[in-house]
Amino acid sequence: MKKIAVFPGSFDPITLGHTSIIKRALPLFDEIIVAIGNNSSKKYMFDLNKRKKWIEDCFAKETKVSVEIYHGLTVEFCEKKDAKFILRGLRNQLDYEYEHTIAQMNRKLNDEIETIFLFTALEYASINSTVVRDIVRNGGDVNQFLPKEISI
Ligand code: ADP
Repeated sequence: MKKIAVFPGSFDPITLGHTSIIKRALPLFDEIIVAIGNNSSKKYMFDLNKRKKWIEDCFAKETKVSVEIYHGLTVEFCEKKDAKFILRGLRNQLDYEYEHTIAQMNRKLNDEIETIFLFTALEYASINSTVVRDIVRNGGDVNQFLPKEISI
């Protein structure tokens, strides 16, 4: 059976932290679906299709990676895609607290889907999409935090 992982997130925008997690997870899975969750109660800075295109551009040469948009529960999306793994990155204790809760809830919803965590590579540990957006809002240059395929 194919090992399929879903990497869910907002990717608003995708950063070097995200791409590092995806690249490091490639040897672990046959397929990684980068899944952009579209939550109607959340306000995003960048357009959904733009976020999708950016991720596609980053992994244009990587046949194992695809990008999709989903609505609703992550576990339901995984079930639809036959994915038995959810991939998440862990930067610090704050991520840990949040991710721990989400992973336990997801396990209650479907205990056949395992959440797999990768610790962030040290050089990307302080990259955060929220802070990137704040810098953009204030007219700063964020390109050093982003993959070279993206320019804001
Ligand atoms: P969400 O809104 O679901 O938190 P994000 O796009 O912010 O979506 O993050 C998606 C995943 O990527 C999460 O597991 C998050 O911890 C991880 N992540 C975000 N930034 C980094 C980073 N700099 N290094 C490693 N993982 C990261």
